[in-house]
Amino acid sequence: MIDAEKTKELYARAVVTWGAEAQLHMVAEECVELALEVLHYARGKGCSDQIADEVADVEIMLEQLKLMMRGVNPVFDEVVDAFRERKLQRVEQMLDDWRWHKEGDIVESDEEP
Ligand SMILES: [Mg+2]
Repeated sequence: MIDAEKTKELYARAVVTWGAEAQLHMVAEECVELALEVLHYARGKGCSDQIADEVADVEIMLEQLKLMMRGVNPVFDEVVDAFRERKLQRVEQMLDDWRWHKEGDIVESDEEP
């Protein structure tokens, strides 16, 4: 089992060894692979293990992305947290505004057009 400290060390080694440009490309590549696997799964193909495999890849690359972005902006994590908070508030508002039919179809919104 690789602990949290060793994991951080591996992320830093990966960025130093292969370089930021290569790792940025890997972030995008792994996100695309996850997106394709999700689409595949949505069509009734594949299995949860294949999704888990791609989720693990994306999580690993997101951690490296955050490490690289902290080099550009030392408060990058706080900026991400602030965006997440605002987006979650927006999701909550959207959910509160929608009324759902019992079969799950959206039938009406209180939101003004
Ligand atoms: Mg992958």
